[in-house]
Order: sequence, then structure tokens, then C-alpha cells
Amino acid sequence: MTEPMVRIRGLRKSFGTKEVLCGIDMDVQAGSVMCIIGPSGSGKSTLLSCINHLERIDGGRMWVGGELVGYRERAGKLYELPERKVAKMRARIGMVFQQFNLFPHMTALQNIIEAPIRVKRQPPAEARAKAMVLLERVGLADRAAAFPSQLSGGQQQRVAIARALAMEPQLMLFDEPTSALDPELVGEVLAVMRDLAATGMTMMVVTHELSFAREVGDDLVFMADGLIMERGSPRTVLANPREPRTREFLSRVL
Ligand code: ADP
Ligand code: MG
Repeated sequence: MTEPMVRIRGLRKSFGTKEVLCGIDMDVQAGSVMCIIGPSGSGKSTLLSCINHLERIDGGRMWVGGELVGYRERAGKLYELPERKVAKMRARIGMVFQQFNLFPHMTALQNIIEAPIRVKRQPPAEARAKAMVLLERVGLADRAAAFPSQLSGGQQQRVAIARALAMEPQLMLFDEPTSALDPELVGEVLAVMRDLAATGMTMMVVTHELSFAREVGDDLVFMADGLIMERGSPRTVLANPREPRTREFLSRVL
């Protein structure tokens, strides 16, 4: 068995007295696409934040690329890594949010080259050349000089994806990447994600786009109340949900 790209065991996370992740176990195989669905408040975003160690966990362990996330283990005890090491780990994980979060005062190109130059110390000319390849890939080569305010939501999200890819991540996390878009702009973003999946990128995608999950997802989990209620191949789960909670959720979003 090959080591999965993401391994999660017994993950627990509370905010105050409220436990929002109540023991999550999950494997995401390298090169596969894991789709995560579930009602609002079920803990989907918190799960992604934990993988990036943007949230401190209260129990369990997670590994990305075989490395323990956020901690090192010695004699069965966990010690939190220094911020410098956490930043290094985060640089290997790309994240795309519902709100595109582009820097408004930078052009599309500047948004993409910022982290490679500052974090990876790429020479600017090299960063720019790579950014142009990425802009081409997301269909925006002609908008390199545009500011976010001059781009549609779909174009901004495609720049955000290119920006994440510029760091050459080994894992991409998407948190409802099309939820803030006008319906006619959803397709162009999903098409970029579909192309990315076809290149073999490991992806975790929180989405309500069930047709994307069905066509692109290798695995699907349904989360509710901080638990994975059901998992399986997207086709099976979406066509024949076993759990009443899954059925009820699907009847509302379909
Ligand atoms: P989802 O993405 O599935 O909608 P979230 O992971 O955003 O769910 O939230 C899960 C639960 O955790 C919700 O009840 C939410 O209110 C709570 N929560 C999320 N982030 C915080 C936070 N920073 N502080 C307190 N509660 C939070
Ligand atoms: Mg969320």
C-alpha cells in the first residue's frame, strides 16, 4: 500500500465547549480527488483549516505527504512545531476559498508571482515566466495586467487557482470555490479544476456542485455534525445514499 497524500486519524476540534469535529478518519490517495459535501456548520471548512494547521486541533493526528501536520511526536507526546516549520508545510498546500482573496492592489500577474518570489526566492524573471504559463492554463493569458476589480468573479477565482499552483503544491484544498459566483461563471472555474484533476493533482474539494463530484471525484464523504456520516464512490453515494441524513441533504440540494 502506498502512503496516502493525506491521512487523518481521530481528528477532534472544538471551539469553546462546542465540538465541531468529533473524530474524523480519512485517507486521500495521491493523485485522487476527494469531494466533501454536507450542510452548513457541519465542519467542512474547519477540517480544511486543520489540514493547513490554521486551526489548532484538540485530538487525533494528521499527515500530509507522510509528515505529521503542525507537530512533531516524541515518546508518544506531541510538540507543536515552530511557526517557521508550519509555514514551510503550508507552502506545500494550495488553498482556494469561496472569496477569491486576491490582493486588490496587484495585477493578476503580480498576485501570482508574489509568493514564489517572497517565499520561494524565485528570481522574478523565472516567476513571471511560470506565472504566464499558469495564466495560459487557466485561460487568462490576455488578462495578466488586469487588476482584480477589472475581472469577473470567475476570472478572479481562476487567478486564485493559478496563484495557488504557482507554489507548486503537492495538495490543493478548495473550500466552496464556486459558491460566491454568478451561476453562468461556475462552469469556467469547474473546468479549470477538472483539468487540474486530470494532471494528477491531489485535491480536496468542499462543494455543492454534485455533478462535479460525480464526474471528477474519486471519493465522496458526506459530513454532518462534525462526523463523516457516509463515504464511498461519488456515483454510489449520490445515486444510492444509505444514510437518512445523506438522503435528506441530497433532496435539498438537488
Ligand atoms: P461548514 O464549513 O461545514 O459550514 P464550519 O467548519 O465553518 O462548517 O463550522 C463548523 C462549526 O464551527 C459551526 O458551528 C461554526 O459556527 C463553528 N466555528 C467555525 N469557526 C469558528 C471559530 N473561529 N470560532 C467559533 N466557532 C467556529
Ligand atoms: Mg464552510
